[in-house]
Amino acid sequence: ATHEETLGFQTEVKQLLNLMIHSLYSNREIFLRELISNAADACDKLRYAALDNDALYEGDSELRVEIEHDREANTITLRDNGIGMNREDVIANLGTIARSGTAEFLKQMSGEQQKDAKLIGQFGVGFYSGFIVADEVAVRTRKAGTEASEGVEWRSRGEGEFTVADIERETHGTEITLYLKEDAKEFADDYRLQSLVRKYSDHIEVPVRMPKTETAKDDEGNDIEGSEVTTWETVNEATALWARPKSEVSDDEYKAFYKHVAHDFSDPLAWSHNKVEGKLEYTSLLYVPGRAPFDMYERDGARGVKLYVQRVFIMDDAEQFLPLYLRFIKGVLDTRDLSLNVSRELLQQDPQVDKIKGALTKRALDMLTKLSKDSEQYQTFWNTFGSVLKEGPGEDFANREKIAGLLRFASTHNDTATQDQSLANYVERMKEGQQKIYYVVADSFNAAKNSPHLEIFRKKGIEVLLLSDRIDEWLMSHLTEFDGKSFADVAKGELDLGDVEDEAEKKAQEETAKAKEDLVKRVKEALSDGVQEVKVTHRLTDSPACVVLPEHEMGYQMRRIMEAAGQ
Ligand code: ADP
Ligand code: MG
Repeated sequence: ATHEETLGFQTEVKQLLNLMIHSLYSNREIFLRELISNAADACDKLRYAALDNDALYEGDSELRVEIEHDREANTITLRDNGIGMNREDVIANLGTIARSGTAEFLKQMSGEQQKDAKLIGQFGVGFYSGFIVADEVAVRTRKAGTEASEGVEWRSRGEGEFTVADIERETHGTEITLYLKEDAKEFADDYRLQSLVRKYSDHIEVPVRMPKTETAKDDEGNDIEGSEVTTWETVNEATALWARPKSEVSDDEYKAFYKHVAHDFSDPLAWSHNKVEGKLEYTSLLYVPGRAPFDMYERDGARGVKLYVQRVFIMDDAEQFLPLYLRFIKGVLDTRDLSLNVSRELLQQDPQVDKIKGALTKRALDMLTKLSKDSEQYQTFWNTFGSVLKEGPGEDFANREKIAGLLRFASTHNDTATQDQSLANYVERMKEGQQKIYYVVADSFNAAKNSPHLEIFRKKGIEVLLLSDRIDEWLMSHLTEFDGKSFADVAKGELDLGDVEDEAEKKAQEETAKAKEDLVKRVKEALSDGVQEVKVTHRLTDSPACVVLPEHEMGYQMRRIMEAAGQ
């Protein structure tokens, strides 16, 4: 090896390694899934690159992953003939973490094993998981299409540093050798490795192969020396999971596939697998994750589906196929309607893309509607992604009604902060004569719940939705109707309780207003320019006075957001 240099890991990598080794101990076997997942990704990438340039296969277009072990040396080796890496790639990919939100993530670590294990899983463990079972890892790789002399060897003991050196490497692709820790010897075992491949990597389209050695026997049943023949056996199913008929895919397989696609660690909440033929031809497999990815609130966070065209992987995170408010949905789209040469730029101009986007949006909303039948599961979903879904009515006019049906709110019905009431629940409980759906917006749940504007509603037993998320006022400005009922902010404009009030009450109110004209005049003079108008109100039952905004005025929340934005 020449041109050898020793480099330090980025601080974040050191921290992650440390945490991972300690908190994932009880779930060590996942290292294999992560490494196979990377090898399969590398094969996908080569197939894609070779569309334009067949020569990249270097005469070997049968993509595959191979796993070998050596019981005596205590090693496991994973080999792929995928895209491979050059020196620069190796240093960037296996020495740093280039993900937004990493610092935030590391700050949340608590030192409590179980909690941290969950967090790390959510973040994605990836390549570094090899160090859970190995005290040294060696990577030998060469990027497809480069000279044999451009191979690279990376080595590390997973402490603070790694070495990179130039090597000769005949074949392209990557080979990873794990030098197992004393207490991880169990993994250098045929049976163990096979069952792990089946458990975690059955759904991967690339064949995962393991060697099988057979020795001929003589008449007495003894091995004939020198007769060993090694054949490679494919251990996994090796067909793209989404291309298989639904009836032949088990829940466990769907879950395992999700983990590969979403780089997640935990199970999804729901999935929807569809094959569509006709004007549009596509297969989609969409998932609702069980928890938020680390970068959900980052502007440049990963979103979208994994795009395939006729089974050929094209790109990760194709965000053109789902609206922004469904950015938490993960999955795969495989279509015949796009060209294999499609790029991100071309996607933006292709009219087929919008059609597929419309169809996938519908699929995703239907999947959520189905999930909402299970109130416990749906609550988990809502608590995690509800605030993102609330962007929906503003973004997707056509599906407003459907999205409205999926919304959940806190309400005076049960006066708890949990957002668990649907608009349908509200409408069912509406008073006779009530025409509107009432809501109040405040900075916090408690402020909403204790708003003086609610007094009259509480007295009359009329339910009010209690809104306090940052996005709520914006949401309500785009929701005009549900089930034919309009929405009314209890803090805005004239209070109209519809037919809930009777004539006698109205008359009494008018008389009071007349009797208090003098008082109103004095208050108005005292407040002078601070207010537009002073009125006698029947909104209140206990409080003496409250501030009301004109009907079409921007609400408090919006004002604050605009002010914060410097407008
Ligand atoms: P992720 O797979 O989520 O990107 P990983 O930590 O698993 O993160 O891998 C980091 C990067 O290292 C990959 O994105 C890829 O660029 C590179 N890499 C890892 N394994 C391989 C491999 N077998 N062949 C080519 N590149 C690889
Ligand atoms: Mg990976």
